[in-house]
Amino acid sequence: MKKMETIHITRESGIPLMGAIQFGIIDRGTNLLQIRGTTSCNLNCPFCSTDGGPFSKNHKTIYTVDKDYLLEWVEEVVKFKGSEGIEANLDSVGEPFAYKDFIPLAKDIAKIKGIYKISMQSNGTLIKKEMLDELDQIGIPIRINLSLHATNNEEGKVLAGVDWYKSTEIIEIARHIASKKNLELLLAPVWLPSFNDEGIKDIIELSKELNCLLGIQKYEIYKHSRKFKKAKNITFWKFYRQLEIWEKEHNTSLKLDANVFKFEKKARFPKTMDVNQKVYAKIIAPGWNKDQMIGIANNRCITINKCTAEIGGEVKIKIVQNKNNIYLGELTKKH
Ligand code: SF4
Repeated sequence: MKKMETIHITRESGIPLMGAIQFGIIDRGTNLLQIRGTTSCNLNCPFCSTDGGPFSKNHKTIYTVDKDYLLEWVEEVVKFKGSEGIEANLDSVGEPFAYKDFIPLAKDIAKIKGIYKISMQSNGTLIKKEMLDELDQIGIPIRINLSLHATNNEEGKVLAGVDWYKSTEIIEIARHIASKKNLELLLAPVWLPSFNDEGIKDIIELSKELNCLLGIQKYEIYKHSRKFKKAKNITFWKFYRQLEIWEKEHNTSLKLDANVFKFEKKARFPKTMDVNQKVYAKIIAPGWNKDQMIGIANNRCITINKCTAEIGGEVKIKIVQNKNNIYLGELTKKH
């Protein structure tokens, strides 16, 4: 395991909480706001789409955002978006519960006018039953999407990439979530064809027993994701065909009701830079991937590829991407 550098993002750091994909706020123009307090993860799943966790090959930095600073940004963005019907999605490119102020953050977010629901993704390993009891009392509905890919401990260990992992403990957490009045459980296994086929069948039965939501996810391979050699990479056609077979075998529906997510279009928080625009950016932190640095300009973070400029320096860049207020830049000349 290599040592990663941790960047603490505070108001005083001057780092805007919009523009980077890995921390802060992502507004994709709907009523769902992604809120990312940390990039940290405690597992090492061999199929991880973000190459997260302490054994990551691509990432050299962990980012963690001060809670009150994060709340300031959330309040501003929610206010802009119309102050009603917003779902706060506490997600992460790692494990949200690795954020040390996770429960206080959830409590404070629940008080923001306009937020009607909180949702979160978790691998479950850092969740304690007392935390769930606190979340249950928060005052607005909460959905917990729990990643559980196997029901037996041996298969679970392989899929978590760490030998201390116990599927049986995560199932206990699932049972506790399901027993709570204001918490909604969604089991979110990744199907790794030819590796956890039996495990997925067990999870289908578990979802029936707990009377909870189930969203089986397709194993996808991306440029920077980890590739799990023991699983087949199948087409979407085969994926949906298999879901139909399991629906018949288990006498249940495996299609998630669209009402569960209730997405609707909402005003987008304004972009501050256009594609092809040239700006001077102040370098403020190392990037998430190797050979990247983070610069700031016009109150947004910009990830600058192939940049080795020193922190505190200034570089001239061209914006090459600004989708959803997530900015990528290229140096106009080498530094
Ligand atoms: S828990 Fe999620 S982020 Fe962490 S290693 Fe596994 S898949 Fe990646």
